[in-house]
Amino acid sequence: MYEVIARDGRAKSARFRTVHGVIETPVFMNVGTIGAIKGAVSTEDLENIDTQVLLCNTYHLHVRPGDEIVRKLGGLHKMVVWDKPILTDSGGFQVFSLAGLRKIKEEGVTFQSHIDGHRIFMGPEESMRIQSNLGSTIAMAFDECPDSTLGRDYIKPSVERTTRWLVRCKEEMDRLNSLPDTINPKQMLFGINQGGVFSDIRIEHAKEIAKLDLDGYAIGGLAVGETHDEMYRVLDDVVPHLPADKPTYLMGVGTPANILEAVDRGVDFFDCVYPTRNGRHGHAYTNQGKLNLMNAKFELDERPLDETCNCPTCRRYTRAYIRHLLKAKEMLGMRLLVLHNLAFYNNMMTEIREAIRSGNFKEYKEDKLNKLQG
Ligand SMILES: [Zn+2]
Repeated sequence: MYEVIARDGRAKSARFRTVHGVIETPVFMNVGTIGAIKGAVSTEDLENIDTQVLLCNTYHLHVRPGDEIVRKLGGLHKMVVWDKPILTDSGGFQVFSLAGLRKIKEEGVTFQSHIDGHRIFMGPEESMRIQSNLGSTIAMAFDECPDSTLGRDYIKPSVERTTRWLVRCKEEMDRLNSLPDTINPKQMLFGINQGGVFSDIRIEHAKEIAKLDLDGYAIGGLAVGETHDEMYRVLDDVVPHLPADKPTYLMGVGTPANILEAVDRGVDFFDCVYPTRNGRHGHAYTNQGKLNLMNAKFELDERPLDETCNCPTCRRYTRAYIRHLLKAKEMLGMRLLVLHNLAFYNNMMTEIREAIRSGNFKEYKEDKLNKLQG
């Protein structure tokens, strides 16, 4: 299922076979929160910029339109018209970051919907049932994502509970996949490593969850308040303790530089809202650094956003036009920027795979980091 094609130092490039096709890694998953990329970007657009995996948020889809509705529509793939892999998160991160008043117990978490305030209960079994109704390719385990700045006294028991929740997730996923009317009976499950910035807790947890022989392993709870150096140190310490014959996913990370550093430490799956969020705010990632299109200097600039980019935006439109659209608050400006930024991330991942497979990742990384500084 997971075959490493090439290694360059600790960096690795692999092929991951799923029921919805092969994922070439390292890969950046494009975040389509409610089943669409924010910024009016469609799944047809994603096909045009070589997106490999769409990531959707379980909590948001559970609240609206409701996972039972998605199931009745034949699952997420059918609803959003996308036949390549989809990864759904567990809902845990949103429950712990978005939802109002919440109460954590051994069974799960009771919280209030951020839409209408009604009470929702979600535990490992509920998260697996919702993700099974969505029918994603890869489901994520339900975990607690504690603030990484909390002390050991909080983190240690929280991680132990996350391990117990993971065992329950696996049992429930196996049961759901064996039912005759399951949307995707080959749905995979990734476990999530937690432990804040405490390497000993994270390493112990990694060894514990590795025993469960899951389809892949994620590192959660990073990029939520700690410094970049702390994050890289945790990766240095933990990645060697996750199974080498399974994909490694660093959740919610990050800037292009963060991704290059994490690939260099053996990570192969990524997701982040930066390219979409920055696009909506008028910022473009380029090989000459980040551009703020609201800046007056682009008023008469007839070049594409990035002269080295071949995305649908750069093939056709100028910086001056996009700036005009943004100033006029015309939705197309935002859409063109989001599309380019996602293409920039996707192209960088293609370059990373090529560099690892041809054995010059280090040189590529240094060169790219210099370009990104503009
Ligand atoms: Zn472009």
